[in-house]
Amino acid sequence: MTRPRRFYIETWGCQMNELDSQRMAGQLMQQGILPTREVEEADIILLNSCSVREKAEQKVYSRLGEYRLLKRGKGDLLIGLCGCVAQQEGERALERVPDLDFVLGPARVGELQDVVARRRAGERVVATGFPESRQYDIDAVSRHGEHKGMVTIIEGCNKNCTFCIVPKTRGPERSRPMADILGEVRHLLDYGFQEIELLGQTVNHWREPGGDWDFADLLDRVARMPGLRRLRFITSYPRDFTPRMVEQVGRHANIAPYLHLPVQSGSDRVLRRMGRGYTRNEYLDLVGQLRRARTDLALSTDIIVGFPGEAEEDFAQTLELVREVRFAVVYAFKYSPRPGTAAPRLDGAIPAEIADERLQRLFALQEGIQREINVGLVGKDFEVIVTGWGKQPGTQTGRTPCHRVIHFETGPEPVSLGGTTTVRVETAFAYSLVGRRLEAPALAHS
Ligand code: SF4
Repeated sequence: MTRPRRFYIETWGCQMNELDSQRMAGQLMQQGILPTREVEEADIILLNSCSVREKAEQKVYSRLGEYRLLKRGKGDLLIGLCGCVAQQEGERALERVPDLDFVLGPARVGELQDVVARRRAGERVVATGFPESRQYDIDAVSRHGEHKGMVTIIEGCNKNCTFCIVPKTRGPERSRPMADILGEVRHLLDYGFQEIELLGQTVNHWREPGGDWDFADLLDRVARMPGLRRLRFITSYPRDFTPRMVEQVGRHANIAPYLHLPVQSGSDRVLRRMGRGYTRNEYLDLVGQLRRARTDLALSTDIIVGFPGEAEEDFAQTLELVREVRFAVVYAFKYSPRPGTAAPRLDGAIPAEIADERLQRLFALQEGIQREINVGLVGKDFEVIVTGWGKQPGTQTGRTPCHRVIHFETGPEPVSLGGTTTVRVETAFAYSLVGRRLEAPALAHS
């Protein structure tokens, strides 16, 4: 009996990449190629890369170096570089890695089958760039093992924040038509998903192509779909949030009370140099509007520390903003110069040790805030969507509506992945909650 062919995908980076990996897996599975967790078993290896931070290229090339060793004695093994580093490096990647078989940019993911076939016919393919029409087959997405259905609604970005490489790697903004989005959400709900996550680099800048509808209209239409229990969207751009969108967040109980709203800095001077297009006060005003619309709202954010020219006073304003907003989670990173962006040309580079020290202070502050907020949740009951098994036998893990990780004992009948149960919080840590599964729920919405 011939051994079934297998593929192995390594995914780095954001949810967009996670979904792209699901799309690539789905295309290969349509051809009867099966997934494997053991890279040594694979006949096709895909490295789905991220280039948001510095040294990504070096890491990708070093990983490709490890993979190419697997080609010894396995001549038909294919290795493909995908994702943002693929778009950024293009032809150069094939020159640098003689054993690399193809390069596939994020906007060309739907062409994987064709690219593999061309490689099998002898061509080393570079499929990058941003074609006008793209192949997107919603049936060719492997959602196996997922608790949520991710749906891309807008790709690329037109903003050009001075630190960010995304407009170069994911291209200009392209919104999908509302009818396609609603069709894909319906498909996922019929499939049994209770949670839908709408994706886009600037998700709330979605516009109906050639039409008048905006993200507020889309949110309203999706939230009204029967069977949808929890709706999330990521990543929102603060300047693009309109009062109509805030109103929708307040109106629909199934829109999760959790929002990722990157602020990047608490200093107007730094925000200007980043080209973010909003001020500290405008950001705080939006937070106020959202919290008035939805009192149970948990917010997370991204912060860059050590951006060129960030004085101690600027950083102090960031800490003050963090104290004021009391985010549920802060994703903080040291500034990392990216090729082709404007920020590396700005004056006032911050020494690494100062940036490190600021990052540690921010982490310490946020950890204390998070612990305080989470301790306030002890005794509350939450509807939890189950995302996996716990480390201890008989335990499972899930997410509350406010997207907090919660561990609980399953009892005699475990909940299937993606299913819901009610859990009472009994212990709180800075980064997770531990609770007890209840029979009769009395739900909190925090
Ligand atoms: S809005 Fe700014 S940070 Fe976000 S993807 Fe676009 S350029 Fe990058």
